Amino acid sequence: MQRVSPASFREAASRFATGVAVLTALDEHGHVCGMTANSFVTVSLAPPTVLVSIMPGRMHRAISATGRYCVNVLPDHGRDLSRHFASQPNTGASPDYELVDGLPRLQGCIAWFACEVTRHVDVSDHTLIIAEVSTCDHRDATPLVFFSSRYHRGAGAPVER
Ligand SMILES: Cc1cc2nc3c(=O)[nH]c(=O)nc-3n(C[C@H](O)[C@H](O)[C@H](O)COP(=O)(O)OP(=O)(O)OC[C@H]3O[C@@H](n4cnc5c(N)ncnc54)[C@H](O)[C@@H]3O)c2cc1C
Repeated sequence: MQRVSPASFREAASRFATGVAVLTALDEHGHVCGMTANSFVTVSLAPPTVLVSIMPGRMHRAISATGRYCVNVLPDHGRDLSRHFASQPNTGASPDYELVDGLPRLQGCIAWFACEVTRHVDVSDHTLIIAEVSTCDHRDATPLVFFSSRYHRGAGAPVER
């Protein structure tokens, strides 16, 4: 099979617009950790199942240790928070958490999913973390969008069905 170059794969994949989430969890010492992720996917409705694809690192270790994480979907003004949780400190972001049912929840988001891990699947340099959603909530607000490696405000104008 002919393989695409990493640069061309990245460019093409970046044309798939996504929302931006921050995964939060307690690590094995009970400290809050967070990580920006746009690989969030809803997998099934019954039971409500989601996945995220993550690289080895602090969040990977925290989720592996505790089996729980929260997906916090960022609003349109969440760019600095996204950068903050993607190893780019000094954005001026000051995240506020509340602990709900033992999971840190990021304040001011437009949707939250509390997730209980059911399976880990290692694929190349990432792990698919598959989880059942135990609770979720949302509010009506405009999302932050990641498209073509840049942040955008809002979901754009609706197209008629
Ligand atoms: C819009 C956006 C979307 C993103 N979506 C995703 C996503 O869906 N999935 C994802 O994984 N990342 C994603 N990232 C990148 C991710 O947010 C950053 O890499 C973040 O710093 C990881 O946090 P951490 O605390 O888990 O990693 P840290 O522990 O801070 O490590 C940072 C990086 O070092 C490397 N690293 C650390 N420890 C190891 C180890 N033991 N073995 C190998 N490598 C290691 C990994 O590349 C890791 O991501 C996204 C970033 C942005 C801006």
